[in-house]
Amino acid sequence: MTTRQHPCASGKASVDRRAFLISLIAVCVSGATSRDAFSSPIENPFGRFGSSGKRPAEIERGAFAFQVDFELSEIASELASLDEVAAELSSTLKIPAPREKILARVLPDEASWRAFFQKTFPGVAYRTAMFERKEYLFDARKERLYAFRGPTLEVDLRHEGTHALLAASLRRSVPIWLDEGLAEYFEETPRERAENPDRTTKVVARLENGSFAPLERLESVSVMTAATNAFYLDSWAWTNYLLNDSSETRAIVSEYLNDLARSRPFAPKISARLKKTGGGEEALRRFYRARLQALQAVDANRREPPQSAAPTPKPR
Ligand SMILES: [Zn+2]
Repeated sequence: MTTRQHPCASGKASVDRRAFLISLIAVCVSGATSRDAFSSPIENPFGRFGSSGKRPAEIERGAFAFQVDFELSEIASELASLDEVAAELSSTLKIPAPREKILARVLPDEASWRAFFQKTFPGVAYRTAMFERKEYLFDARKERLYAFRGPTLEVDLRHEGTHALLAASLRRSVPIWLDEGLAEYFEETPRERAENPDRTTKVVARLENGSFAPLERLESVSVMTAATNAFYLDSWAWTNYLLNDSSETRAIVSEYLNDLARSRPFAPKISARLKKTGGGEEALRRFYRARLQALQAVDANRREPPQSAAPTPKPR
C-alpha cells in the first residue's frame, strides 16, 4: 500500500483546469487575443526540442504516439501499466476504441521537464504531468499528454492517460465529475484498489458527518475551479460505487458514455438513470459500509502475528 500525494497537489487538477479553461474560452470568447497561456492556442509544443536539442523520436504504441528522446523500453513497466488502463477502460466501460492518436511527450527527467514546462507554459503552476484536451467543435489538434520519466510517471500516465483515452474514444467532453472520478479510479492498479482502504475510510467519514456530495450536486459542477479535493474524492466515490456495486450500475456508466460517443449530449444524466434502477445514496452508503468492513478484515488479518511454531524438542 502506498501513500501518494493527491493529484490536486501534484498538479493534475490544475492541468485539467487549464485544459478546461482552454475549452471554455474557445467556446465562450473565441476571438479573444489574450496572451494568457490559458487562452492562446499553443503553437505545437511537440515541435519543441528537449534539452538534448535533437528532435525527439516519435513512436506509435497503441493509441499513443510517444515523443521521447530516450529509448521507450526504459519506461516499459509504466507503459505496460498504461496498456492495462486502456484494456480495462475498454472491458469495463465498453466504449469505442480510440478514434485518433494521442500525442504523448515524455521528457527524460525532472530537470528537463521543468525547463520544458516553464518555457511552454509560462505562468502556470508547476505540475508533474498534464493532459490538454482539444475543443471538439473548433479545434483540429490532437489530444496531448505531457509527463516526464520519474517516480510519478506510472500514476501520471494512468491518470492523464484515462482522460486522454476517454477523449480519443468518445470525441466528446465528459462531465467533470465523471472524467475525474474515472481518472482517480483508474490511476490505481486493480491491486491497489483492492487493498487500499484510505479513500474508503475518508468517504465513510464524509457520509457520516453529512458533507458527502449528492450526485446531482457533482453533476451541476461545470467549472474546474469548483473541483476541490473533496470534489475529487466524492467523484471517485460515486464512480467506484457505480463500477462495482452491480452489473446494473456499471452498465449505467457504460451506456451513458456510449450515448456521449453517439453525440447524445442531452441523454439523461447518470443520477436520473440510477434512480430508475433503485440505486442512489442509500445504496452507496451500504456499499461503502460493507467495503470498509471487508478492508478492515483484510487489514486485521495482515497485522495478525504469525502463529508461532511449536517449540522444537531439544535433542536429547
Ligand atoms: Zn484529472
